[in-house]
Amino acid sequence: MTPTSAGFKHASARAVADPSLREAITRVTGSLGVRRAQVTTELPHFDALRQRAKQIKRHTLAHLGRYLEQLEEAVRSRGGQVHWARDADEAARCVVDICRAVGARLVAKSKSMVTEELELNRALQRAGIQVVETDLGEFVVQLSGDRPSHLIAPIIHKRREEVAELFARHLGTPPDAPVQVLTAAARAHLRQAFLAADVGITGANFLVAETGTVVLVENEGNARMVTTRPRVHVAVAGIEKVIPRLSDLAVFLPLLVRSATGQRLSVYVSLLSGPRGPEERDGPEAFHLVLVDNGRTRTWLDLELREALECIRCSACLNSCPVYERAGGHAYGSVYSGPIGAVIAPALTGGHGLLDLPFASSLCGACRDVCPLRIDIPRMLVVLRARASGAPQARWERLLMRLAAWVLRHPKAYRCASTLGRLLQGSLRRSPWLPGPVRAWTQARELPRLSRKPFHRMVSRAWKPEG
Ligand code: SF4
Repeated sequence: MTPTSAGFKHASARAVADPSLREAITRVTGSLGVRRAQVTTELPHFDALRQRAKQIKRHTLAHLGRYLEQLEEAVRSRGGQVHWARDADEAARCVVDICRAVGARLVAKSKSMVTEELELNRALQRAGIQVVETDLGEFVVQLSGDRPSHLIAPIIHKRREEVAELFARHLGTPPDAPVQVLTAAARAHLRQAFLAADVGITGANFLVAETGTVVLVENEGNARMVTTRPRVHVAVAGIEKVIPRLSDLAVFLPLLVRSATGQRLSVYVSLLSGPRGPEERDGPEAFHLVLVDNGRTRTWLDLELREALECIRCSACLNSCPVYERAGGHAYGSVYSGPIGAVIAPALTGGHGLLDLPFASSLCGACRDVCPLRIDIPRMLVVLRARASGAPQARWERLLMRLAAWVLRHPKAYRCASTLGRLLQGSLRRSPWLPGPVRAWTQARELPRLSRKPFHRMVSRAWKPEG
């Protein structure tokens, strides 16, 4: 995963200055959030499902080696092949080798974040193999030479007019074509790719250890085409995607779909176990599963960050995050954006170039509240912040903290300080920015006004004994 921005601070400053980007993002995240809230509250046992999912993930991660071995055995017993990749290069090389071995010239891909992480398209193209992204959003991303900016809505940052203009250039549709015409043009174009592709590449939402099954959840049907029409299916997945049993899907599927798109059920759920059997009429002749580490074992070994591997990439945390809403996905400079991206990206890369991401949060906790796994993202952000800060506190900072602690322990000193603050705030508020090191705090928000009647005075008056 290559960091692709000059740092969150600069990239987000550019994004914040673009009101149309913010409007485009809030429109989608807002409606996904509302739909999620509706469909999760209508399910009386939703919280019980969350609890059960947490238990299953914790248990699976605690016995990760065992379940991965079981998965490998199950895939092999059904005629599939399993490949282990330590890092992005090894994984990309493995997929390229598989494609070369079958003489592939065209590959059809369905949406997969892990293949973005590996920069797989670039590796395939370098090997002379043409790649076509078949998810509509990813197709637009590919045509425009862009990057996805959301886990499930890759072109959340694009307006319809931009897509119409892009399709007019590449597919010959009218520049003011409505959405129906654009999607029909994409469908006709992609159909050719499905028919001609030698290899289909997908990710995996879940990998079932018990049965060696790859589970794909989607709404467009392209993943089903990619896994059934080409001669070879290659599934690429992070090692954390394994779950123990097929019955665990009864817990994870409702959580994923309701938290992701606010649907009760996604349009397609495909359970794929190995290549086409002798009695079966469709499916690939060969099936390969590429299990990717690329920093996951490092994250797994780190007990303070292991919880991040429980993520099922539903994107609910992105949709609820005030920082993501304003900065957009590209500002994170990583394939994984939003609150979970701010943890996962530095964790997987060992922080390489992404150490400012944990600071891209107000720590409001909205992400943890909506997460179907209740992943404690704020806790991990604080851990990463402490590690990134590394340097010991400055002398003035230490003194200031000691002084604050002393004031907070002594009611008289606290009352004096708050009176002083009230007297001084008039002159401070006349200046647009606070002085010195706290200046940045007031560059993007207003200094809150101290109440003329402090809370402690109101409380002490209310409690004054009568008579
Ligand atoms: S951290 Fe939770 S809310 Fe965010 S994508 Fe992962 S599972 Fe979904």
